[in-house]
Amino acid sequence: MTPEAQPTKGTIRVLQLYPRDMNIYGDWGNALVLQQRIKWHGYTPELLEYNVDDDFPDDIDIIVGGGGQDSGQLVIQDDLQARADQLRKLADDGAPMLVICGLYQLFGKFFKTSAGPVIPGISILDVETHGTDERLIGNVTLKSSEFGDVLGYENHSGQTTLGPGVQPLGTVTKGAGNNSKDGHEGARYRNVVASYLHGSLLPKNPAIADFLIRTAAERKYGTFVPGTPDDDYARLAREHAARRPR
Ligand code: GLN
Repeated sequence: MTPEAQPTKGTIRVLQLYPRDMNIYGDWGNALVLQQRIKWHGYTPELLEYNVDDDFPDDIDIIVGGGGQDSGQLVIQDDLQARADQLRKLADDGAPMLVICGLYQLFGKFFKTSAGPVIPGISILDVETHGTDERLIGNVTLKSSEFGDVLGYENHSGQTTLGPGVQPLGTVTKGAGNNSKDGHEGARYRNVVASYLHGSLLPKNPAIADFLIRTAAERKYGTFVPGTPDDDYARLAREHAARRPR
């Protein structure tokens, strides 16, 4: 039997939010890693995109969203508000989501840009973000109790503070993370993982990819039966990233 002809364990539908306007520093790679690892686990991936004014697809199992310039965040803000209830319901129902940088900020309460405008968020995450004149740029490593050592790259002017409704993704060991003071990176709420890390994040951090796939399968099928992913590429990417200077 060819690999394509083998029966799969089911379909997992991955939706990329606003890839036209919110997708920088390789964030698209997160969707591609999910697609490949879903296959390796023996499920059938379906990769969909949602941009401003599109119809919102049904039966989504995983949502991924990337970063963007402040200008991209201004472009999507009204459409995102129109989708807020739907996205909040999905998050509260335990749908796994990964939101990076610009969409992390807008999944929070608001982003007050350094240029002045306040972009309202959709308050899935109890966080708020204030633009500053300082850009936090460079390679980042953090320790996460759930995912071990997490590696990535940050570039943002907004600084995010966490409220009591979320947990940090981890504690920074190199770089800045959420802001230049706390030593925390990212946020966790139910099965939502939010992070400032581009790079993209998932190629170097397959534990996070597998968390999203596992929780999607459990939510949809009641159980997750793992396959045997090829982790060599991730090991090489991590080794390479660990050798890079800041
Ligand atoms: N525009 C936001 C900021 O500068 C987000 C940047 C990003 O997504 N990398 O803080």
